[in-house]
Amino acid sequence: MQPVSIIGSGTMGNGIAHVFAQHGYPVTLIDVSPDALQKGLSTISKNMDRQVAKGALTLEKKSDAMSRIRTTTSLAAGVRESALVVEAATEDIQLKLRLFQQLDEACPSDCILASNTSSISITRIAAATQRPQQVIGMHFMNPVPVMKLVEVINGYATDPVVTEKVVSWSRHLGKEPCVVNDYPGFVANRILIPMVNEAIRCLHEGVADVASIDTVMRLGMAHPMGPLQLADFIGLDVCLAILRVLQEGYGQPAYAPCPLLVNMVAAGKLGVKSGEGFYKYNPGSKEALPVSFQ
Ligand code: NAD
Repeated sequence: MQPVSIIGSGTMGNGIAHVFAQHGYPVTLIDVSPDALQKGLSTISKNMDRQVAKGALTLEKKSDAMSRIRTTTSLAAGVRESALVVEAATEDIQLKLRLFQQLDEACPSDCILASNTSSISITRIAAATQRPQQVIGMHFMNPVPVMKLVEVINGYATDPVVTEKVVSWSRHLGKEPCVVNDYPGFVANRILIPMVNEAIRCLHEGVADVASIDTVMRLGMAHPMGPLQLADFIGLDVCLAILRVLQEGYGQPAYAPCPLLVNMVAAGKLGVKSGEGFYKYNPGSKEALPVSFQ
């Protein structure tokens, strides 16, 4: 199996490392923070325990998978022998441009460089390297071990042979890859985030309260979770940032963020991670209580 490196050991990075290691790949997990690496490993171990409890993984396979993951804070040492790098560092364009320049210098010349970015242009990231034909989007969904989709994003210069390889790696991980082209929001967020914004507009205009809006979408459209609760899980700051990318990229008023969303982000109400968004989340409780907006 070809060695794979994952950059970033946060929410997405540890999930991506998990699925590659589970499917037999030697994985190097890289982060600037030793704490994040430690936390990443412990999350992978706990999530694999859950798979063991469900009978989806044996203890022996778990232990094999864990032994395939090594960690390092050194980017250059961590990518030296990689066939594929999946970057899942913080969503910040300047950071990603710098990272891809470094990866271009440190990785073997035939290594494929993939980004898990939710909203940054793959074409722009690729242009920071001398190998834009080998740069591609590999957009996993959260939680990675559970969600089937990988949105494979072709940048302007991506070589079709590279796309084929990434599609084949994704299938080998038990995922369903969908190939799309690099335009703002790709497909997933271009459709999802304006729907979330529209749900917030309904709330803002007093069309219905939080619980009713989410119930309409859950029971009426068979969505597993209403759009307002989903926004809380994604993070309201992340939703706002993606809307700004869509607004700037397409220049259409339809993508203008609802003023209520802008206000909530300014007030630090970011959803689950801050303890409150459209619902209140009490530590230690799984219950989400709808907030009243008058
Ligand atoms: P996160 O904040 O949980 O983790 C980011 C990690 O990157 C942190 O551990 C941080 O220490 C590390 N990092 C920062 N700079 C680094 C560097 N120079 N080198 C190595 N590591 C570095 O973020 P996340 O939610 O896992 O998101 C990661 C990427 O995945 C982003 O591009 C995001 O848009 C994308 N994404 C997120 C989700 C989601 O639901 N969270 C879903 C799909 C895609």
